Amino acid sequence: MVESGKRFEVLGAGIRECPRCGGTHQFHFPNGLPKEPRIYVPCPRVTRFWRLSTFYIDSTPNVLDEEQILAQIQDMHGARELEQKLARWREVRRPGLWLIFEYREMVEEVMQAYVQGLHYPALTGACCLAERVMNRLLFGLKEHYKRSVHYKRIYDKSRVQNWAQLRKVLRDWRVIDSEQAGVIKKLHSLRTDAVHYVKDYDYEEAAAEAIRLVLQLVDSLFFAFDRKDIFWVFRIPGKIWVREDKQDVPFVKEFVLPLCHKAGATMLYLNDEGYKEDGAIVGPMTEAEFIETRKSYLADPSKHDDGKTPREFSIEFQGETRTFVVP
Ligand SMILES: [Zn+2]
Repeated sequence: MVESGKRFEVLGAGIRECPRCGGTHQFHFPNGLPKEPRIYVPCPRVTRFWRLSTFYIDSTPNVLDEEQILAQIQDMHGARELEQKLARWREVRRPGLWLIFEYREMVEEVMQAYVQGLHYPALTGACCLAERVMNRLLFGLKEHYKRSVHYKRIYDKSRVQNWAQLRKVLRDWRVIDSEQAGVIKKLHSLRTDAVHYVKDYDYEEAAAEAIRLVLQLVDSLFFAFDRKDIFWVFRIPGKIWVREDKQDVPFVKEFVLPLCHKAGATMLYLNDEGYKEDGAIVGPMTEAEFIETRKSYLADPSKHDDGKTPREFSIEFQGETRTFVVP
């Protein structure tokens, strides 16, 4: 139901008589009004937490049977030594859910080189990837560590090639733990062997080791199921939420929250109606209360719905009718 605009003041001002709490709220659109046909103005007095909404899922290892996997490998890499290719495919592929970053395509290419049996490109690619991920972390996070002794050495640089330095800084900033630092150290040693001449070097074995290590590193950072230190994984059925006590951690701020949306305990995403949170409780809520409310809501939404929202209001703005939604 679309109502008249009497509850709305002009652009950037706000709403009176919020249908959820009855109060007055200011909303700010620093970049101008969004272009979407319906602009959400959720009641700010409802407690919401960050929920992961953008991610990469690979379900092929679960979905495909062996025949289909073989067909896919043959299509991509040719029919020769298919059994070995399948064995390598099984070594590197696992189903799961990762935070999306540009590294994803590179991981894929390195894995494909390995499946194909291209050991040198797989080895060097795996090592380069590790260096790239470390640089990405370092420069993505540096502004959070201005008081660190490392900051003045790197703040005006665009890259760091010194692996020992990368490892030390990320360890000191607690972005990686001692186990991850150990993985990086081993990758560094493989990298050194790969780019220099080592007589009779076993590239096949080194490639297998490098790819195992780089996948371990990438997973330990970006694989949601391995990041239970920052996520509630399926503690609330079917979904991944950021733990409240971790939302101020620099890694979470820079690499996780941009992939999340804030959502309420009584929220639903409906294909035709968009986001709604009828029955939302006004006021602060602890994380434990939030989780209980969410479970109770999913068990029976009708027990919570009070019909106060969603409500839509239209106003004329610059000759156009714009619709606002209190979800
Ligand atoms: Zn309100």
